This record gives sequence, C-alpha cells and structure tokens, in this order.
Amino acid sequence: MVRRHQMLTVGVDGVAVERRLAAGGLSCPGCAGVLAGWGYARERGVRGWEGAVRVCPRRSRCRGCGVTHVLLPVVVLLRRADTAGVIGAALVAKAAGAGYRRIAVELGRPVETVRGWLRRFGARLEAVRRVFTVLVRSLGTDPVMPPPTGGRWGDAVGAITAAAWAATVRFVMVVPVWALAAAVSGGRLLAPGWPPDAGNSGQHELPLTGGGRGL
Ligand SMILES: [Zn+2]
Repeated sequence: MVRRHQMLTVGVDGVAVERRLAAGGLSCPGCAGVLAGWGYARERGVRGWEGAVRVCPRRSRCRGCGVTHVLLPVVVLLRRADTAGVIGAALVAKAAGAGYRRIAVELGRPVETVRGWLRRFGARLEAVRRVFTVLVRSLGTDPVMPPPTGGRWGDAVGAITAAAWAATVRFVMVVPVWALAAAVSGGRLLAPGWPPDAGNSGQHELPLTGGGRGL
C-alpha cells in the first residue's frame, strides 16, 4: 500500500536535517530513492513541558518514486497536540498504577485528552512490547532484556525504555526514550496503522543527529 503522503521521523535539529537533505543523505522508506526538499508542511503548535512549541515540519519528495514525505521531528507524534515526552510521562505513570484523572492533574492536561492517550496505547500493549523487544535484541550483542513486570502496561513501557537504553549504549549517545518511541513508530505511536500486523516494524530512523548508523 502506498500513501501519497508518508511520514518519516527525523532529528529535532532542523539545520542537520537541511544538511542531510542537501547532501542526499535521507532516503525514501518506500523505494530507497534520494529525498529532496519539497517545501514545508503546515505549521502546528504542540504543547511541551514549558508551554507551546511551534513546529513547522519540512516536506520532502522522493526523486525515485515521487512520493512526498513529511519529515516529522521526533518530539512530535502524529495527530497529537502534546509532545512525545509529555505523552510518554502519562504512559509511564499509568504503568506505575496511576489512573487517568490523577495523571491529568499532574500533567496539567484535560482528563479526556489523557484518557484518549491511555485508551489508544492500552489497545496495543502487546504489539508495542513485541516491536521494542525485537529492537532491543537487534541493537545489542548482549542485550539486556526487560524483566517481566507482571503487568501488560509495565511490560510495554519497559520494552520501550530498554530499547532506548540499548540504543544509548550502542551509539554511545543519549537516545531519549520517547524520541525513540516516536522514531520507531514513524510518529504513529498513538495513531492508526501502527504497529504493522505482519511482524515487520517498517523502516525507521533512530533519533540520531550525529554520524551514527541508522537501522
Ligand atoms: Zn521513493
């Protein structure tokens, strides 16, 4: 299935993204062709810890197949008005046993918003656990697998955390947990169409800005 507009997550550093685009360093997830700059997607505001952040994602077009890709910074999740870090904090709190009302108060977010995140993530716990457990294995020669927590929420969040740690060790640079989750899901951590059913977690880039190897 080829969608006309696809998502590709990139690092937060816009200058580095421009440099990679100019150098032909970003490739199409569909056909591996070279991506070229293609204007900008609509500007949007996301709510971070410190208030609103304006994000204007770069758009690119594949020189091979012509499909355009929105280059979504890894702080952002598709269709969500809060940053991945804020949403991630809610998921961690839920895994630790908190209810959505308390989480909403602690994060200063509307109850219905938080409930929506938890509902969406809660419906894909096992799939998420599986994707990130596979990633932990692929990242380390001696991977530290997350211990079972006795709960599906804890296991799913634990697998994401373990993958971020494995990536940090592997690339010798800090890979933030929820940036990794955004990157691996192509921004679709809480959006339809992810994880894919058929074992393949799809193409993704780790949120690396240096010369580290992607996956
Ligand atoms: Zn292409």
